[in-house]
Amino acid sequence: MKKHNFSAGPCILPQEVLQKASEAILNFNEDNLSLVEISHRSPSFVAVMEKGRQLALELLGLENKGYKALFLQGGASLEFLMVAYNLLEKKAAYLNTGTWSDKAIKEAKAFGEIIEVGSSKDKGFSYIPKEYTLPEDIDYFHCTSNNTIAGTQMKTFPNTNAPLVCDMSSDIFSRQLDFEKFDLIYAGAQKNMGPAGATLIVIKEEILGKVTRHIPSMLNYQTHIDKDSMFNTPSVFAVYVATLTLQWLKDLGGIPFIEKVNDKKAALLYAEIDRNPLFEGVVAKEDRSTMNATFVLTDPSLKDTFDTLWKEAGINGLHGHRSVGGYRASMYNALPLYSVQVLVNTMQTLEKTIK
Ligand SMILES: *Cc1c(COP(=O)(O)O)cnc(C)c1O
Repeated sequence: MKKHNFSAGPCILPQEVLQKASEAILNFNEDNLSLVEISHRSPSFVAVMEKGRQLALELLGLENKGYKALFLQGGASLEFLMVAYNLLEKKAAYLNTGTWSDKAIKEAKAFGEIIEVGSSKDKGFSYIPKEYTLPEDIDYFHCTSNNTIAGTQMKTFPNTNAPLVCDMSSDIFSRQLDFEKFDLIYAGAQKNMGPAGATLIVIKEEILGKVTRHIPSMLNYQTHIDKDSMFNTPSVFAVYVATLTLQWLKDLGGIPFIEKVNDKKAALLYAEIDRNPLFEGVVAKEDRSTMNATFVLTDPSLKDTFDTLWKEAGINGLHGHRSVGGYRASMYNALPLYSVQVLVNTMQTLEKTIK
């Protein structure tokens, strides 16, 4: 039986997507060739790339609004650098809400002045700073919508005239937001979209071309826009699987549908974390992530017993990030509500076991 996969990334994908993807590996489009052995310039693959780019914009409600979608490589980590390379002339503002924001700041510092307008680093990134003001004269504001490691999530985004740049790696396509507010969204595929190897970039084209430095072709968003995301060989398999996942989401009813499911899953698990005296959450309640729920045992000596129980229940990937420990249940789009119920039952079994 398939495991209940709570892995933080790479993570669970819809079973029917994996089925289709495995068929395409052997025989794509019934052409008697594998998806991974045909030219990326073949009409079959170009159609995949175009479909993926179009679905991304459609699901976000950003069609015909000046945005372009790209599937690049290098992960979200390369975007930390590319964002600054393409947009930072003098000064940018960053909100530091977690390990990934912290890394984005570190990369951007090589290109100009970085103002950290708020940070929760002092308290282990256990909350989202809210009382901050953005300077007027910034080239852009950068934030991380969901903090995959700490388990916090931004519920609101500031209004600013400067371009709004957001790392949405771990919650893109999971909830409805006013996406038009954002000028550049990026997300590594492996959290909510597909296998590792592709990064989705959604960018409002008008924010480009404002910096004076020379940008190497591969790191220049304009290059990739001009070449329809085919400047060099894209990661064909990752793009194909991401496209299948986006189609799966669209067929279900898009973001409005999946948001309701995600809210139910999160509500179910957090209710148990709060009810069960053996567990406690580790981040501010109002900032809890619907994607990655972090929690600890109130009695650490129960660790081995609990770990045995959830493994026996067929649960995978519940350990917290190596930098923080504890537990983390990642409940991405493809995780069924039933898997969360199994986890909750296991937490209740622990309670009964020790009584
Ligand atoms: C996983 C993650 C990253 C890093 O992604 P890579 O694709 O491994 O570079 C960056 N930001 C967030 C929010 C993440 O969850």
